[in-house]
Amino acid sequence: MTDQTDFIVVGSGVAGLRAAVELAAAGRVTILTKDRITESNTEYAQGGIAVVLNDDDEIGLHYQDTIDAGAGLCDEEAVAVLVEEGPHYILEMIDHGAEFDRDAGELAFTREAAHSRRRILHAHGDATGREIVRALVAWTKQTSGIEFRAHACTQSLIVKHGRCLGVTYVEPDTYRIRALYARAVVLATGGAGQLYLHTTNPDVATGDGQAMAYRAGAVAADMEFVQFHPTALGLADAPRFLLSEAMRGEGGILLNSEGKRFMSRYDERAELAPRDVVSRAIYFEMQRTSSPNVYLDLRHLDRRFVRSRFPQIFRTCLLYNIDITRDLIPVSPAAHYIMGGVRTDTFGRTSLAGLYAAGEVACTGVHGANRLASNSLLEGLVFGARAGETAASEASSDVERAVARDWDIGQLADWRIDDGTRAAVKRVMWSDVGIVREDSGLNRALSALKEIAERPLNTRSWNFVTLARLVAEAALSRRESRGAHYRSDYPALDDDIFKLHTLQQRPTDGS
Ligand SMILES: Cc1cc2nc3c(=O)[nH]c(=O)nc-3n(C[C@H](O)[C@H](O)[C@H](O)COP(=O)(O)OP(=O)(O)OC[C@H]3O[C@@H](n4cnc5c(N)ncnc54)[C@H](O)[C@@H]3O)c2cc1C
Repeated sequence: MTDQTDFIVVGSGVAGLRAAVELAAAGRVTILTKDRITESNTEYAQGGIAVVLNDDDEIGLHYQDTIDAGAGLCDEEAVAVLVEEGPHYILEMIDHGAEFDRDAGELAFTREAAHSRRRILHAHGDATGREIVRALVAWTKQTSGIEFRAHACTQSLIVKHGRCLGVTYVEPDTYRIRALYARAVVLATGGAGQLYLHTTNPDVATGDGQAMAYRAGAVAADMEFVQFHPTALGLADAPRFLLSEAMRGEGGILLNSEGKRFMSRYDERAELAPRDVVSRAIYFEMQRTSSPNVYLDLRHLDRRFVRSRFPQIFRTCLLYNIDITRDLIPVSPAAHYIMGGVRTDTFGRTSLAGLYAAGEVACTGVHGANRLASNSLLEGLVFGARAGETAASEASSDVERAVARDWDIGQLADWRIDDGTRAAVKRVMWSDVGIVREDSGLNRALSALKEIAERPLNTRSWNFVTLARLVAEAALSRRESRGAHYRSDYPALDDDIFKLHTLQQRPTDGS
């Protein structure tokens, strides 16, 4: 069975919702989303959203901080778009009801690592993402022409003669594969943290968009750059709940299992060093002391302040019998954000006609080799809007259909990533394509992933393994250390050879 609309948006995080608002001005929009509408990385974002709206801040400083974090690989045009247009999109969100925290009526800004000014807006203390989703969902629901299909997992892009015509997805009630055709498709499927054994990302973050686009022939870029968050809750049987960077920004310190502060041995900025530096320091300290974690210590801070500034974290840690105002909090790094993705320009155009991408699934080059904290929610807003606007203005005037050949339309879908494949990939990626990489481990990972890929796999399992292989191959080819990509066998940055983006595209012979 087939179906058509004007525009398809895949994903209901910040990028997809913002793109949908823009597209609705030009036609009917169908948002396909894999789980509940609110289930996304965006929903779990805690710390905040970076924007220059503070009197003592400047666009140029936000620009420079982003460039510095990106370790020589930021696309300067993309960074300029982000920091210059960011304030407009935030003010627009406030106009549409987003409630950011205020002090005496004025917007309250906090500071995070590697930001030279206090420029992070937050909502309800540490529930910024939830507030952004709430406001955007309300906005999309008030906008006519936007239809949501929840629990509708997209499996493939439908491509004919180099043009994306639509998608196939699993219909929620029947579990049959359906085709949906449109004038343009905007991918906003978010990140791929689930590739790793330990991740802060929810279950939906399996990198489907990057894999579907690669499979359809689009170019992927900079896939080796995966950011590991230094401080996820490090308890054996608990999910890797994120303990926001803002906890260190507000004065939290890190102690090793011997009860000693160690960060200044690794970097003069100590706990406020960039994420990759702190993650590696924790990794090495855990190895040195043979411990499964280090500790975050807030016990010296005012208890009432900590409870009110981090209410969600306070409540969650209590569930595990940890009172963050009185106890040491066990923490260890976890996969958090992927800088690489489907290559786009600053208007969300991919290399495939009819296909646009925005947010974490995309790679505009705005984050370079390492994302500056709190820039990604802003990225979703700014580039989501731009991708939607561009897709609306460039879309073909007709919906074209392709003959449903190899998409098994109507088949009962075996559509979940099977548990064995998921677990095997996650283990390989964590042990050999993780925080510290080297040649032999990466080759071992690639052999293991190749072996997994040779088993009979359903589409989504194949996509998952393929994505892992893209990350491992890109990591193997970059024989230097840059930003979040650290090679113990090539610990130095090598601008002469590697100041360039890694691009990957599926061979046109379909192999
Ligand atoms: C715990 C945590 C804390 C964070 N804190 C911050 C922060 O403080 N500040 C900041 O700037 N960033 C933060 N980030 C990063 C930020 O949240 C994300 O980068 C950003 O929200 C990504 O937005 P997005 O719209 O691109 O993707 P998402 O918000 O992840 O949305 C992706 C959507 O696509 C859907 N989807 C995926 N695959 C399919 C499929 N096959 N078919 C249909 N739908 C699909 C998902 O269900 C989801 O709706 C945090 C991330 C995490 C995980």
